[in-house]
Amino acid sequence: MSGSPTSQVVLVELVHVHSQGSAADVMDAFHVDMQQLLANPELAMETISNRAEQCLVDKSVTRLTYLDDEGDWCTLHKDTVHDAVQFAIALQPEAVGVEIRKLQLRVVTSDKKSEATSTEQIQELNKLSEGTDARRLIPKLAAGCLRIVEESQQPALFVLIDLLLSLREGDLKAESVPSAIPQFVAAFAELSEDSVSSILARVREEAQKAVEELRQEQASEAQGQEAKEVEVHPHVICDGCEVSPLIGARWKSLTQNDFDLCEACFGEEERDPAAWARVKSQVRGSVVSSFYGPPEASLQAGGCNTVAVHGPALAAFEASEQKSSTTTTTTTHSKSEDQAEAAPESSQQEEKPAFKEELEATVAKEALRSLLSHPDDAVRAAAALALRSAQQGCDVQMTEEEQPGESDEDLDSEWAMADAKSLVSSEPDEAAAVSPLLNKPSAAVVSGAPLVLGVEAEDGGAQGDVTAEFGAVLAGAGAKQAFRLGRVALPTSDDPTKAVPICAKLVVVNDGAVAWPETTSVALVSGDAFGFPQMQLGALSPGEAAELIMDLSLPARPQPGAARSSWAILDASGTPLGPILLLEVFWTAQ
Ligand SMILES: [Zn+2]
Repeated sequence: MSGSPTSQVVLVELVHVHSQGSAADVMDAFHVDMQQLLANPELAMETISNRAEQCLVDKSVTRLTYLDDEGDWCTLHKDTVHDAVQFAIALQPEAVGVEIRKLQLRVVTSDKKSEATSTEQIQELNKLSEGTDARRLIPKLAAGCLRIVEESQQPALFVLIDLLLSLREGDLKAESVPSAIPQFVAAFAELSEDSVSSILARVREEAQKAVEELRQEQASEAQGQEAKEVEVHPHVICDGCEVSPLIGARWKSLTQNDFDLCEACFGEEERDPAAWARVKSQVRGSVVSSFYGPPEASLQAGGCNTVAVHGPALAAFEASEQKSSTTTTTTTHSKSEDQAEAAPESSQQEEKPAFKEELEATVAKEALRSLLSHPDDAVRAAAALALRSAQQGCDVQMTEEEQPGESDEDLDSEWAMADAKSLVSSEPDEAAAVSPLLNKPSAAVVSGAPLVLGVEAEDGGAQGDVTAEFGAVLAGAGAKQAFRLGRVALPTSDDPTKAVPICAKLVVVNDGAVAWPETTSVALVSGDAFGFPQMQLGALSPGEAAELIMDLSLPARPQPGAARSSWAILDASGTPLGPILLLEVFWTAQ
């Protein structure tokens, strides 16, 4: 047999396929060296395309196809040149030593006019979709195009269905659209000129629809985002431009009473940063604060029912508290307002110690209560254990059956001892508790507005910093400031539904060197919550301030009496950041 032929030649025959594949005629035929063709398929593609283009007048080549061994017309590109040659038909050699194969290529063309139209179309689409997210626009466009394919029932477009489905479902990302364009062009090339223009018109419609839809989606998302992010200060009026509620940053004067500015008004002139506090509001468009209604059930402080020891402990608390409340009534009733506000070293020596002692016991109990409702199981257990051992030591039986009436003077002092023990056992870092270290989150109340009271209530005017009265006890409990929200007098009433609303507003500042944790909250530590068990304050940077608005509801009482509640600013571990807020309520017979 003979060896390999000396020369291998490919006869390339270009056949023009008109739209719809109706008629076909040979445009051109030429010989190329097979080895050269296979050695540089890129150059071969260019050569063949150029020859095809030269034969066309007002059309351009969109694709070249070859027939494979299964009878399918496949697209010729540099990677399929080898295949195409393989499947080319071997011709009878004209001379010995020459191998010739005929490669028939179909030239698929498009009108230059419609090509220009589609370029315009793309530019138009680009302009239309400006400012929208292409990754989200593409699936919508694909859905629109699928509708067009379905409506038009043009078989030439059916090849696009898989591609469009992938785009609509997001399996094929917007980034891969450029690589899919040849498929669209090829499909359109199969259409008649009339079909192309009517389908392009439909594409324009669908594109407009998709862009409009996406614009609306993006706009409403932006609005939702804004509503969530905007800080709202309900019931606060900017004293510069009188906008209310104040929205965004709020600057509160520390030198003028009840003077707030919005960010714009604050920025209008140079101001002394020391005289202003940036007040943060927890109120965001969708955030429910105590201001807009009753606190959510999940906000109920402490999780009392989850602490086994808490039931009896609470009963004992209430017992001792009732007692101490009564004491408060008698002592404070015998004093004038000035005396109550006087410093400990004032002349009221004979009354002060008893009052102070009683308050000290209360504060210690408050600390114990916060330990007993501590979120950490270990801390709660330690507090409970200390409480039990203290109780056993004092031979006091703590049972569910115990009645508040059974408590007496001795029990009260024993309680003070139990409080002290539990505090020591669960607070090993006593030094840190006594003087908060610089790297610990710290808070202080810088100012308070007068209480806003329902008509029946009377403000005793005792609002302000009362740290001096509590000093040592506060330090023992890890707190460093006592701030009295007020002392409110209410008439007794037989109507149990007659609650009196009051509102306490105060400014709390981060006076430490580190930001508060996000979990920072103000929570009830003793007494009646008066409808305000807990509220999250959130993270505050050093030097930043937050306005705390406490909407309280004071219940009616038929008998004269007194009650004191206290709240503390705590982190998630129940460690006080500084202030303890006190509210004293008196019910007096008319
Ligand atoms: Zn303003």
